[in-house]
Amino acid sequence: MSDLHPKRLLGKVVVVTGAARGQGAAEAEALTREGARVVATDIGPARGCRRLDVTSEEEWAALAAELREAYGQVHGLVNNAGVTWRARIGEVRPADMARVHAVNLTGPLLGIQHLAPLMPPGSSVVNVGSSAALTAHYPVAYTTSKWALRGLSKTAALELGPRGIRVNTIHPGYIETEMTASAAPAFREANIRETPLGRTGTVGEVAPLVVFLLSDESSFITGAEIPVDGGLTAHGGVKSVSDALLGPEAGG
Ligand code: NAD
Repeated sequence: MSDLHPKRLLGKVVVVTGAARGQGAAEAEALTREGARVVATDIGPARGCRRLDVTSEEEWAALAAELREAYGQVHGLVNNAGVTWRARIGEVRPADMARVHAVNLTGPLLGIQHLAPLMPPGSSVVNVGSSAALTAHYPVAYTTSKWALRGLSKTAALELGPRGIRVNTIHPGYIETEMTASAAPAFREANIRETPLGRTGTVGEVAPLVVFLLSDESSFITGAEIPVDGGLTAHGGVKSVSDALLGPEAGG
């Protein structure tokens, strides 16, 4: 990037969870390009990633101690790590609920608890929700965890606001990653049908939003929820109605 475009995150220390692949990897790259010192973390071994299981209080505490020692401060946290489990209401077991909620909800809570004490005014937390958090998406463990994450984000924004720390949530729609590749092809096709832009999204279309929310350009935005979903959640489920009435023979 040339001097004509000053780096927007110069000098900021930013932790990204689940950064070994998918959206987290793209976010870590984009944040680095903007000058951030990115601490990329993941549960699995991956080049350039420090180990962090977001469900482990001990591992969060160890990371916070290391960051305090190395940098003194942390300016950003991207709670991106997430897992899905595609059981429906009839089949889902309490153990599935607990496992998915531990990663998708308790993980972000622990991240905020352990890193907020290191955050100076102007810091920013981005929680990665999902279009599932705005709809009745069928995998109930995943959907409930992401709805609950909205509540955590709002509460954290309220509580940390007086310290100048912002907390926002993004809601990706269908993004091409290993997570979505593991679903049936019909899931992808149905999502495209319900998406006004008529296609899936890429990790490169999510990362710039995370950069913006971590940068000072969003300095008065907190407690907000921003879908990045090609319009999937904007029509409230009536796209099929609109589509059905298109064309002369529909009479609409
Ligand atoms: P992905 O499966 O490709 O990547 C998820 C990453 O999280 C992996 O690297 C995995 O190792 C890591 N992870 C899992 N459990 C962890 C744990 N306990 N501790 C630390 N890391 C852990 O998925 P993705 O599509 O890149 O998803 C990123 C985020 O976006 C998730 O929160 C997901 O729920 C959310 N999301 C994805 C989509 C989509 O369409 N892909 C849509 C909406 C929301």
